[in-house]
Amino acid sequence: MSVIGIDFGNESCYIAVAKAGGIETIANDYSLRGTPSCVAFSPKNRMLGVAAKNQMVTNMKNTVFGFKRLLGRKFSDPYVQKEIKHFPFKIEQRPDGGIGIRVNYLGEDNVFSPEQITAMLFTKLKDIAATALQTQINDCVISVPSYFTNAERNALLNAAAISGLNVLRLMNESTATALTYGIYKQDLPALEEKPRNVVFVDFGHSSLQVAACAFNKGKLRVLATANDPQCGGRDIDSALAEYFCQDFTTRFKLDPRKNQRAYQRLLQEVEKLKKQMSANSTRLPLNIECFMEERDVSGDMQRAQMEQLCAETFTRFERTLRSILHNAKLRPEDIYSVEIVGGSTRIPAVKGLIEQVFGKHASTTLNQDEAVARGCALQCAMLSPAVRVREFSVTDVQPYAVRLAWDAARGEDGDMEVFPAFHAAPFSKMLTFYRKEPFTVSAYYSDQVPFPDTFIGQWHIRDVQPTPEGESQKVKLKVRVNIHGIITVASASLVEKKQDTQTDNVEMENSNENVNNSQEAPMDTNGGSQEQQQNGPDNQEENADDKKDKSKEKSKKVLVKTVELPIDARTHGYSQQELNGYIEQEGKMQAQDRQEKERADARNALEEYVYELRGKLSEGESLHDFVADDQRVALVGRLDGLEQWLYDEGEDQNRQVYSDKLSELRTEGEPIKQRRLEFELRPGALDDLSLAI
Ligand code: ATP
Ligand code: MG
Repeated sequence: MSVIGIDFGNESCYIAVAKAGGIETIANDYSLRGTPSCVAFSPKNRMLGVAAKNQMVTNMKNTVFGFKRLLGRKFSDPYVQKEIKHFPFKIEQRPDGGIGIRVNYLGEDNVFSPEQITAMLFTKLKDIAATALQTQINDCVISVPSYFTNAERNALLNAAAISGLNVLRLMNESTATALTYGIYKQDLPALEEKPRNVVFVDFGHSSLQVAACAFNKGKLRVLATANDPQCGGRDIDSALAEYFCQDFTTRFKLDPRKNQRAYQRLLQEVEKLKKQMSANSTRLPLNIECFMEERDVSGDMQRAQMEQLCAETFTRFERTLRSILHNAKLRPEDIYSVEIVGGSTRIPAVKGLIEQVFGKHASTTLNQDEAVARGCALQCAMLSPAVRVREFSVTDVQPYAVRLAWDAARGEDGDMEVFPAFHAAPFSKMLTFYRKEPFTVSAYYSDQVPFPDTFIGQWHIRDVQPTPEGESQKVKLKVRVNIHGIITVASASLVEKKQDTQTDNVEMENSNENVNNSQEAPMDTNGGSQEQQQNGPDNQEENADDKKDKSKEKSKKVLVKTVELPIDARTHGYSQQELNGYIEQEGKMQAQDRQEKERADARNALEEYVYELRGKLSEGESLHDFVADDQRVALVGRLDGLEQWLYDEGEDQNRQVYSDKLSELRTEGEPIKQRRLEFELRPGALDDLSLAI
């Protein structure tokens, strides 16, 4: 069994594997380490990753990209409405308000959810890993932007479930990077010493993530994060494309904004230009042949000009750097180094801003493209019994303040902040309520979350009754940020005391007293597998069915009995039934892809044999003299016919048709090859051979 880490990027994905010897990044079927986050559809099959990206410009309406940031969102979400403007494929509202991506697949209109599209990409990543490692892949850790909210995280877990991946942890991207940095560092300060503070800047395709972390020997603690979910490399591409649109409109009277295909080509070209500008400050040309109306266009740009055009992106970048100092309460001189990852940190202006804000050079200790995947693989190894790795404790944070609200009983406040922003995670808090009847609590993000809806979930605690004396019962709720960064009410239990005490029937006086402050220590990730079992994505339902009675003695005088209470949860994500439907649908599409691949392979095998045999039968080639002339002429005639057929009606036949034709052909071709082979094996054959050729 292998343990893998997946960096699910908006533009591309990386897969790393933890082995006894260390961490390795896996190359895909095109020998590339990065696999484009791209999924495409055709009348016959799906194309995933590189294959999808390669045919994008010719199949724009059915090539889906940029879906990472659609996860968990509603169609009406202003963010989604803004994204849609740039997509050449069709997006619509589903009956439940969710997002539907409409494509033509197998010759029919199909509507898929972002979760399904993500799952398709994941099946490809799973395949790539399984091929490279020659083993089944199940357990994995997947990266997630630290700014993702419950809805987005649940959607990502649903996507993984549809693809058949078992997610041991959704790991925040910058935390994964920090783990990659820390685990092999030999010179970290001892536990009792002042920690080493390191800032990690991940500037990718769609967003910017910054984290400040404190390191000691064998452990890291995230102090705070600062993000700009709408500031990434693609914004630079858009600004450059906009410039050239205006330029081409003036000089060539061609406006690519009016032609999706031309615009997508322009985007690809300016991205290349942008990358060249990172290495070169001289004026660089941009040439696109047969761009629009069969005309060629050309232009040029210089780095300084790009920096001007993208000033807004750089301002936002700088602002986020300053926020991390504020959020982590650090001064530049408290920071040991600033480590950069993500493709867009290759831009010189970006490095310049880092130097300006932190007063030190951006450090490139880490592999910019692979650090996130590597961290995820390390974390996966720590959580899995399959591979042993060095122990390293990771304490993450929950970036937004979380409030819990309920119907206030007499003398109570109706809500409280359970987790302030940047509270340690994973983490559980026990809250105590005094109730005579079933009750409901709801959780909300109380901060400015980059998500239109602050609702996290609602939990209805059932089976609460008054004591035989008609008094309130003591109910303890465990509110938890779980290992995936998902906020949930993990359990509710009734605390029955056999021997009453005076304080028991006291009602809540104020939220602080009613709500018990007892806290569990943050779980370090090495204890995480246990945590994961308790808090898998389905845990609410598990809890609801779980009515185990637990008895324990709290003190000598009072015998306390704890009864687990059933909970009805309403949160984000699919129900098990919906999930099963999607899993089944995905299975069918995989079967279809397999079938199509086998068909194409059979056609290729026949085609290859036709060419090979005909080549060897021609004048002066190896098989020419090993068959009677008239038989050869007839055979070559048949081969010519077959070639014609393959491009004609034979283009699209069943697998069996090709393999039947191939075996038929082999009955004629193989004996000729055999005669040649026997000839070669004769003593002194080499001399004859040179004569024969
Ligand atoms: P995200 O982290 O936003 O989900 P991602 O992980 O897929 O996306 P990365 O692979 O880190 O993103 O970065 C891709 C971005 O980096 C693209 O916008 C790409 O154009 C940009 N990029 C890559 N190389 C360079 C370079 N040499 N100069 C400038 N930009 C670059
Ligand atoms: Mg990334």
